[in-house]
Amino acid sequence: CGIVGYAGGRPALDIVMDGLRRLEYRGYDSAGVAVVDAGAATLLTEKAAGKLVNLEKALAERIDTGFDVGATGIGHTRWATHGGPTDRNAHPHVSADGRVAVIHNGIIENFARLRASLEADGVAFTSDTDTEAAAHLLAGSLVAAHADELAGPAALAEAMRRTARQLEGAFTLLAVSPDAPGAVVAARRNSPLVVGRGDGENFLASDVSAFMEHTRSAIELGQDQVVLITADRIEITGFDGTPSSGTDLVVDWDVAA
Ligand code: GLU
Repeated sequence: CGIVGYAGGRPALDIVMDGLRRLEYRGYDSAGVAVVDAGAATLLTEKAAGKLVNLEKALAERIDTGFDVGATGIGHTRWATHGGPTDRNAHPHVSADGRVAVIHNGIIENFARLRASLEADGVAFTSDTDTEAAAHLLAGSLVAAHADELAGPAALAEAMRRTARQLEGAFTLLAVSPDAPGAVVAARRNSPLVVGRGDGENFLASDVSAFMEHTRSAIELGQDQVVLITADRIEITGFDGTPSSGTDLVVDWDVAA
């Protein structure tokens, strides 16, 4: 329902949680975050059914685990469409191999077919969501991208393109991986996604209100595009890898008090 991503030099968790608070008006039933600690290249996730305060409580118990220093992060508030509003169905969804964490707005219409085929390959699902299929597909695509000699952010972006090409329906997907510690990658089809261009930091969100206290310079993504952000790069392509661009926006309205 609400989506936020951050890549930069500041602690990602604070910026992501703040962005989620700014999107709260949309209504949601669960929330979650994933942070990559650039130093240790570890992936940390936390999620909780209910209001953001439940997630805040869960995070407060883990504040010494590296969550506070991670400089790359994603956050999600969920409005359940597939699977009840429970802790396990909250996003992020982490792939079985632990290499990617994914958040998603929308509905993946062909998820049942994708899930059946992944399960036939021995992948164990841990939720009832349509989203989890995308997490496992992305992890498989990342292995394939590495086998094609891609590494780091370039591999993650290529993996997202391969995944997006297999999905039907409406989706804004964001992902992070300890294999690409400084990067957040996203794909969109029939669902909104904007990039916020900062100074030594960049943002992703379903709505500019999530990041407009940090930057007023935004890019609206077009249909069937993938975007990779790092602290100092924004790279947009089509699902086929063709370099592309979005539409520049200047956010000139006032920040709500
Ligand atoms: N279809 C996904 C789910 O039910 C995402 C819902 C949303 O947009 O929040 O988990």
